[in-house]
Amino acid sequence: MLHIFSNKDNSKNKKIIDLPDADLFFVPMLQGAGLAAQAVVSVGERVLRFQLAGKAAGNISANVHSPVSGVVQAIDSMILADGKESQIVVIKNDNKNEIVEKFNTANKIDIDKLTSEFILQKIADAGIVGAGGAQFPTFVKYNIKDKNVDTLLINAVECEPYLTADYAVIDQRGAQLFEGIKAANKVLNAKKIIICIEKRNSELAESVNRFLVRPENKNISIKILPDTYPQGSELQLIKSICGREIVKGTLPVDAGVIVSNAGTILSIANAVMRNEPMTERIVTVSGAVGKAAGNYLVKTGTPVEHILKALKIDFDRQNQQIVLGGPMMGKAIENLKIPVTKGVSGILILDKNKQEEYNCIRCGYCAEVCPMHLLPYKFYDLSRKKANAPKLDRYHIADCIECAACAYACPCAAPLMTIIKASKTQTKV
Ligand code: SF4
Ligand code: SF4
Repeated sequence: MLHIFSNKDNSKNKKIIDLPDADLFFVPMLQGAGLAAQAVVSVGERVLRFQLAGKAAGNISANVHSPVSGVVQAIDSMILADGKESQIVVIKNDNKNEIVEKFNTANKIDIDKLTSEFILQKIADAGIVGAGGAQFPTFVKYNIKDKNVDTLLINAVECEPYLTADYAVIDQRGAQLFEGIKAANKVLNAKKIIICIEKRNSELAESVNRFLVRPENKNISIKILPDTYPQGSELQLIKSICGREIVKGTLPVDAGVIVSNAGTILSIANAVMRNEPMTERIVTVSGAVGKAAGNYLVKTGTPVEHILKALKIDFDRQNQQIVLGGPMMGKAIENLKIPVTKGVSGILILDKNKQEEYNCIRCGYCAEVCPMHLLPYKFYDLSRKKANAPKLDRYHIADCIECAACAYACPCAAPLMTIIKASKTQTKV
């Protein structure tokens, strides 16, 4: 693992601000790992906020809901930030904010009285997926059946530069976070719950400790981890905190651990306590954005161009690029109609990388920093030799978590990530 720049100060201590709604929402049916949801609304139909717009289609798939009330203007398709094509439900916002089902929040929900089956169903119905970026459906992850989970890790490590969305959750949404933890653990029944943060954010311990002193939270603790990259990746976190290696072909749950991002836990609280599906998330806007840098509550389906306009951000297409996510693992986009989805933690405006690329000099730095103990320079060699999939498999390319640590460390700016992503696609064929 390696130490990288942070650049979080511009947004770290900013209050979460509600982003004004767009007039037109582009709601992708593919907002999770696995299969896209199946659209259940039609063109011309009036929809209400939180109405089911797409139904999960398959074992690994998640429901999608309308973020606003309005009229379905079109059902189209779009290539999303990750290069995947998705069906898009285009909704013209009527700005009436009419909600599908009124929920009486005056009657406070008592989580102790809810069954784990009820909470799991709520998580499924609400279309909750991992908010850290992987977008894996949470009800699939939490459907542990007879497996024993001894540890629940709440991941707020956020090791990518610029991003402070999880920081904002821990700092400003503590009450909701602890509701979500309680609901999540009613399903998982873990003996230990650990909130994980980076050393550079250790001041967050103060916000968390206000809740930890309560007797009902006696099984919850906080752990401060080194500022190394990619400390926040699921496998690294499990190794650092629990000392367990996840054996190839198994899942963290097989080792008794579940990792959930802080934003995911917030969505669980919203679903269980307020009957709200996952139609919004906290997004860090940062980079070359001047005073607009901050943390915003953004409805999913909001196109990036609306965010630029609402925050009065000038974007120079010639010299700058927009990245969804962090600068290491995020995706640069060209089409500004691409919307925020459930896994988009950041919108960054960064200078275009004009660094000269050189041939590999076999320094080995890429292998030194690889958290998966791979040999990235081998992928470089094999790609130049146009090697076939079995050769790439021999070097375990499928284990690569695409963290980009190797590319960051490479003194020759070898295009390792382009090569790795292309090679991984080749091995899947
Ligand atoms: S090879 Fe993959 S896992 Fe290893 S450093 Fe590079 S991107 Fe990260
Ligand atoms: S860090 Fe770059 S130059 Fe060094 S071995 Fe890896 S690919 Fe080659």
